[in-house]
Amino acid sequence: MKDTDIAIRCNIVTISDDDVPFEEKTIIDHSSDEISTEDAAVLLKAVADELQNETYQFYVGTSYRHCLIWDRGQVVELTPPHDVLTQKIGQYLPDDPGLREMMIRSYGILKDHPINVSRRQQGKNPANCCWFWGAGTKPMLSSFEEKNHKRGVMISAVDLLKGIAIGAGMEVVKVEGATGGLHTNYEGKADAAVKALLSDGFDFAYIHVEAPDEMGHQGSAERKVQSIEFLDQRVIGRVKEQMEHAGADFRMLIMPDHPTPICCRTHTSDPIPYMLYDSTAPKNERHLYNEEAGKESGIFIPEGYKLIDRLFGAE
Ligand SMILES: [Zn+2]
Repeated sequence: MKDTDIAIRCNIVTISDDDVPFEEKTIIDHSSDEISTEDAAVLLKAVADELQNETYQFYVGTSYRHCLIWDRGQVVELTPPHDVLTQKIGQYLPDDPGLREMMIRSYGILKDHPINVSRRQQGKNPANCCWFWGAGTKPMLSSFEEKNHKRGVMISAVDLLKGIAIGAGMEVVKVEGATGGLHTNYEGKADAAVKALLSDGFDFAYIHVEAPDEMGHQGSAERKVQSIEFLDQRVIGRVKEQMEHAGADFRMLIMPDHPTPICCRTHTSDPIPYMLYDSTAPKNERHLYNEEAGKESGIFIPEGYKLIDRLFGAE
């Protein structure tokens, strides 16, 4: 990115295809039923072929999450699509005429695209509109290593997390089959972290699993429970087992970045529960890990970014 570039998130979303003016349409799904990256790339190219120019460049990301770079743009206010699900879109469209126009035109380009014709036949939500949100400038982050005196890796399907890591000078490990969805490669992520720690000389591995958040946005209690069970067994359990097997001392910090309650299908700013596990600490107590247990512990850390100091034992 140039210093004068603005990066904007570009979701490929599902809006209602009823016969009403664009502004009257409803946003149905911020993730187009977790569209595959492969299909999304074809759709984004169709959009870019019509709309891309020297001012606006589209970049393919993962699944429904893509990026627009706006040359000499502005950090305009935009609405996250997952915050307004099931609502009429008119009042949430960008005020900026250029972005607004592109959203409207993207619907015209995508609605009858062969990929969407076949998605409808398969009973899937069509990926029929670009939705811009989250405008920002190039981040100026301090180096993770200089700050913490640890070498770190990021393991995530989500470009936002990878971007933060790259900005902080961390290594990004690519895991085949990591999708950011419910059926991601959990074992692959766990194994990548263990390899980074035990074989590649890293001190810190950040495993990010998007599924519990996504299932919250989808409003499915059943799939959310499933995603947490997968995370527990196929990531946390697997990492713990392999680290123990190797005879390594380690600490593990387990936490969400924010709640995404089923009831509201979007992020809330309530405190989140965390669990800090130390393989060398005596294990004569059983601890539950949930919101209630977190509340009862009486421990409250108002500044979440300070938690990492506890993980590294600096506090
Ligand atoms: Zn989310």
